[in-house]
Formats: sequence, structure tokens, C-alpha cells
Amino acid sequence: MNHDYSALSHLECSRCTTQHDAGRLQGTCQCGGPLLARYDLSRVAELTGPGQIGGRPPSLWRYHELLPVARPERVVSFGEGMTPLTPMPRLGREIGLPELLMKDEGVLPTATFKARGAAVGVSRAAELGAAGVAMPTNGNAGAAWAAFSARAGLPFLVAMPADAPAITRSECVAAGAETYVVDGLIGDAGRMLAPAVRQRAGWMDVSTLKEPYRLEGKKTIGIEIAEQLGWRVPDVILCPSGGGVGLIGIWKALQELADLGWIGSRMPRLVAVQAAGCSPIVAAFERDELTTSAWPDARTAAFGLTVPAPLGGFLVLEAVRATAGCAIAVTDADLLAAQALTARLEGIWICPEGAACVAGASQLRESGWLGADDEVVVLNTGAGLKYPETATTDLPVLPLDAAIPSPDAAAVG
Ligand SMILES: *Cc1c(COP(=O)(O)O)cnc(C)c1O
Ligand SMILES: [Zn+2]
Repeated sequence: MNHDYSALSHLECSRCTTQHDAGRLQGTCQCGGPLLARYDLSRVAELTGPGQIGGRPPSLWRYHELLPVARPERVVSFGEGMTPLTPMPRLGREIGLPELLMKDEGVLPTATFKARGAAVGVSRAAELGAAGVAMPTNGNAGAAWAAFSARAGLPFLVAMPADAPAITRSECVAAGAETYVVDGLIGDAGRMLAPAVRQRAGWMDVSTLKEPYRLEGKKTIGIEIAEQLGWRVPDVILCPSGGGVGLIGIWKALQELADLGWIGSRMPRLVAVQAAGCSPIVAAFERDELTTSAWPDARTAAFGLTVPAPLGGFLVLEAVRATAGCAIAVTDADLLAAQALTARLEGIWICPEGAACVAGASQLRESGWLGADDEVVVLNTGAGLKYPETATTDLPVLPLDAAIPSPDAAAVG
């Protein structure tokens, strides 16, 4: 392989550390463990550095040496990445965290951070010659993979729960994906898809962490945060965790950057935020367990967090513990209130999953786990626009030519 565009060297099992060939399509290890992409970091250091990266176009592909796509012409892109890392002064003051920042992923193509995983996952699957890709989804991953697959000309098969955000169903259909809606949760959708994928020659199962490259796309969130802070890390990063790819990706990124010497060795405390209606990672964290147990009757308005049995739960727990972070669950009432508060104070209508981080940050400040001078980054994983039902209004329609109330009579909201 030509090692100038990518310094990818091999794949390594996250459970048993067996090495695997990165030059062909791979699923999980024989032991069932997710595979992690490994790079020749001394080659990366020869090829580039922070100064050079700073002059490149503002997309996640500016980190191409640390991404798996071998040839630049195989990159399938809408220009995704380099999302804003925005100070939240009014919200921060309200919840006692004046140094609050938000990494806002709502501006990505298809309006969630799933675009990062899809950009890299689709590009690499197509480069390695996949005949098609298939996945179960809670909606947003399907929408993102549908868009990137369409652009790559790669057939895409997707199944989602009937309760997934309705717009994501439309996005899949609009982009020409073979789309199925199932009466169940994401695990049920995955079980129904698996035999269909096996029947299709050359197809890849790209379920969460069942192939190695979606994680590489998500990893760029962590690299961007470091670069946007001037190649250093904040004190704390809160990440909404369903399958856990976002948080695992951020951790992997920061380890690679530390190994490269591009940031110091200090790690931010990583916080996995879940919804109280589906919090297997929090439960395992609190019980000091190394792996998660399946969560019964999962249900939350933060639909992307409805993952009762995350394959990578053990990696999230490892990341959180290794960085002296924690895992916290917030109720739907609290996360929806945090969503409304963020829109009112900062003008950003965030998704319910991202709002879980705002609610989580507020609770951790109240408990004293976060200090007033901690520099805290909350990850907003998507746009509130994808969840219109979270902000219903019941405004009356005024009769034509009715008088608009005077200021003292008007409701202030
Ligand atoms: C998928 C999703 C999540 C959860 O991400 P994981 O990487 O699976 O932990 C959070 N927020 C939104 C909007 C999502 O679509
Ligand atoms: Zn293994």
C-alpha cells in the first residue's frame, strides 16, 4: 500500500489483541471483539504535523494520514467536519460552568455526527470493493450512510425501528436505500438483517463496531477539539453514548495524538451520558463491572441512545475509567428542559441526545464533580430540527386583522 495519504498499518482486536490484515474487508475478530485501526505513527509524524494540517481545507479529511482511506480519489465527501467549538456563555452562567463550550455537530451533512462515521466507513468500504453495505439503525446512522452510499454509488440496505425519527426514514428512501421498518428495537433490526447480508455476495455488515472504520470517522471529533483548542485538551468532555462510538472515537483520537506528541499526556475526563430509560453503561459503571448487561424495556425521547446492549460497552467503560471520568444518566424531563434552555439562551436548537449532555453537565456541577473553573466541552450530536416533536407548540391562529397584544399584556417567553 502507498503510505503517503494514509499511514494505516493493520487492524487489532480490542479484546484479544490479535492482528488482522487491513488491506481487505474485515468484520469483527474470531473472538467477536471489534477491530481497531492501527497506524504507523512514526510515518504520520514524518508526513505531517499540526502546522501543516492547519493550512489544509476545513474538513475531517485534513487528518487523512490518521484515517484509513489509502487513495485520495476514493474519498466520498460533502465537505464534512470542522464543526464549530462554540463558547456557551449564557448557558454556562446559568448552570455554573462559565467555561462551557459546545462542539456542535448539528451542522454536518444529514444534521448529525453520524456523517463522520459514514464518510469514512463508506469511502473505505467502497475502496476495498464491497458490493454493498447493510446496517440496523436508530435512524440517524441510516440517513447518513444512505447519503454517502448514494454519492459513492454503493448499494445500501437498512432496517430501523418504527419509532425512529420519521425524517430519517424519509432520508433513507430519498437517497435510494433499500429501507425496512421493523416493529422492534435496533437489536431486533440487526438480527433480522444478518441472514439477508450473508446471502448477498460481497456485502458488508456495517453495524456499530462490526467493521473498523466508522469509528475512525467519529475519531475526528476528538482531533478537531484538540486542534480547535490550539492542540491541547479541555478538562472534561461529555458525550451522549448509545453504541458508544462517539466516546470511544474521541478517546482513540486523544491517545493517538498523545502518542504523536501533538498534545500533552494529560487526558480530559470523559463522561458517558445516557438516558435514564436506557442506561446499561451507567449501570455497569456504578456496579464496577467491566461489561454491560442488556437493558430491559428501553425507552427515551433521545432515540439515538436507545441501545440496550452496546457491543462496545466495555470500551466505553474502559475509556471512562482510564480518564477518571464517569457515566451518568439523565431523565427525559431533564434532557428536554436542557434542550429548551439551550435554545432560549444560546439560540441553538440541539438534539435530545446532545441535550442529555447539557443536563448531565448541570447535574455534575451541582454534585460538585465539576468545578466552576473546569473547561467543559459538551458534544451536541445533532440538530434539533430532526426531532420536531420535541418542541411542539400550541399557538392559536389569530383571526385576520386581530390586534397583537400590547407589551404588558403579552406573555414573555
Ligand atoms: C447515534 C447517536 C448518538 C449515540 O452515538 P453512539 O456513537 O452510538 O454512542 C447520539 N446522538 C445522536 C443524535 C445519534 O444519532
Ligand atoms: Zn479477538
